[in-house]
Amino acid sequence: MADRNDLIHYVCTAPSHRRTADLGLTRNGERWALCPDLIGRDHEWQDTGGLEVSAAVARWQELVGLGARAAA
Ligand SMILES: [Zn+2]
Repeated sequence: MADRNDLIHYVCTAPSHRRTADLGLTRNGERWALCPDLIGRDHEWQDTGGLEVSAAVARWQELVGLGARAAA
């Protein structure tokens, strides 16, 4: 099992950062975080509570409307 420190604790939902669906791994303080725009400023971090990467990506897709529901 991944150490708790390896979990993704934040995903960024800043609209201006939503340029691609490819999330990059970065740090938010002491925690791992995902954002599609790693050079962007003013991230809008949503606390995931700590998720595996694949689950964190799915959570981000839900939050920004890229999930299956939004495809229609
Ligand atoms: Zn961001």
